[in-house]
Amino acid sequence: MLTESDNDVVVLGAGYAGVTAARELKALGYQVAVLEARDRIGGRVWTSELAGTKIEYGATWIHWFQPYVWAEFMRSGLSLHEDPWFPPITIHSNDGPRSMEFERFRQILVSAWNAFAQTSSDGHLIERPYHIEELKNSRELDALSVQNVIDSLDMSAEESVVFMAEIAVQMNAHPKDVSYLSQLRWWSAAGWDVALMIDCLARYKVDTGLSSLIDIMVERSELCVQLEKVVSKVERTEKGVRITTRCGETWSARKVVCALPMNCLQDVEFDPPLAREKIRLSEEEHAAKGMKVLFKTRGESAGHAIVAAPGDKPINLLNPIRVEGDDRLYVGFGVDGTAFDPNDLKEVNSVLSDLHPDLQAYACAGHEWHKDKFSRGTWHMPRMTQNTRIADAFDGPEGDVHFAGDYLGRGWMGFVDGAIESGMLAADEVHNGLVTTAESRSKVP
Ligand SMILES: Cc1cc2nc3c(=O)[nH]c(=O)nc-3n(C[C@H](O)[C@H](O)[C@H](O)COP(=O)(O)OP(=O)(O)OC[C@H]3O[C@@H](n4cnc5c(N)ncnc54)[C@H](O)[C@@H]3O)c2cc1C
Repeated sequence: MLTESDNDVVVLGAGYAGVTAARELKALGYQVAVLEARDRIGGRVWTSELAGTKIEYGATWIHWFQPYVWAEFMRSGLSLHEDPWFPPITIHSNDGPRSMEFERFRQILVSAWNAFAQTSSDGHLIERPYHIEELKNSRELDALSVQNVIDSLDMSAEESVVFMAEIAVQMNAHPKDVSYLSQLRWWSAAGWDVALMIDCLARYKVDTGLSSLIDIMVERSELCVQLEKVVSKVERTEKGVRITTRCGETWSARKVVCALPMNCLQDVEFDPPLAREKIRLSEEEHAAKGMKVLFKTRGESAGHAIVAAPGDKPINLLNPIRVEGDDRLYVGFGVDGTAFDPNDLKEVNSVLSDLHPDLQAYACAGHEWHKDKFSRGTWHMPRMTQNTRIADAFDGPEGDVHFAGDYLGRGWMGFVDGAIESGMLAADEVHNGLVTTAESRSKVP
């Protein structure tokens, strides 16, 4: 049985958070091992192909307002692809489908978002997105659901469909399940501006895919990631930590960076157990368990964008994102990941024909992240009270166990950017801890 003991740090998980933490620590001269459960790196970033076109099963878009991922992108030498804006839009409401000009759609979003986020001349609800104390002091906002706030607004039926559809897509969950603060944090990180926020969420992507960016990070830092190592136990020992995988292999090190999704912490045994609140949060899980489906059409005369409020249709927003000759690649999002099988062409076409008679796919794909035991959901989307409880519960390490992950991003929480930010900060925390220990040892006469 393999036993490795000469590491300074073991990093659990080779998503963007874990890879960043490992790279930073290796650059500081530490011996680092990275253990990853899957047979690939990237975690919730996974570039693949559908009928000859690059697709992203997970994260797709980045923006220069996301400082950590943008820095990686600029250094990588990769190029950017801009997704097209919406074609004519079909809105599905109680009165059936009807078309809407993009300008009207945009006006509704601007006024609805300003009302929702209570934008006023007195200032913004979250004035400083990276300020942890402001986050911790926002308990009242965190106790409300997105639905609570929508219900308090006087929206017309038309405004309600457009806003509910758009915000449901952002959350990948139903508005009744998500904290108001979760969405205010995105709004604040994007400078309290609707057009900018939407650009940050879904306009620019790495042309060769987000997997190619993390590949470069790993290659340049010569990180050695050990794949198919499912971590089952983390023990704190007198000398540091001991990690055991499901197959019984062990690694020991002075410190560990646990860069697993928050929803997956519950699957690892910690000895001594993690603070109860951490486990409770992981068991509650965040709310995003929705759908992302990709499909290709051929020979359509024009593209279609579809908007539908949650509950009415299994897809809330659908939009063509790449045109190649006669082919269009579409992406669609919905709040319920179990609504249909995104890999079953018959099921996908049955959903599409109900949205628009001209929509017919010849190929489709999607990864069911809610069923995936190494993610247990899509992007991190805190439920009511979870934003502030996470900020309290994960404020610093537990002994030699340090934490990183998109759920700890202070700015772009739930994004690749937030994952990288958390990896950087975790690496600093580990380094400071190791330096302090070394200094106190050197003082011993
Ligand atoms: C459908 C979808 C669309 C998204 N769209 C965007 C977008 O457009 N832009 C954006 O910025 N973000 C987007 N995101 C969010 C983004 O993917 C995540 O925020 C980010 O990738 C999280 O990185 P991470 O390192 O924190 O976690 P992960 O990427 O989840 O990495 C954690 C790693 O831990 C591993 N692991 C889990 N359990 C164990 C175990 N027991 N032992 C060992 N390893 C384990 C996992 O396999 C995984 O590799 C999207 C996510 C999804 C799913």
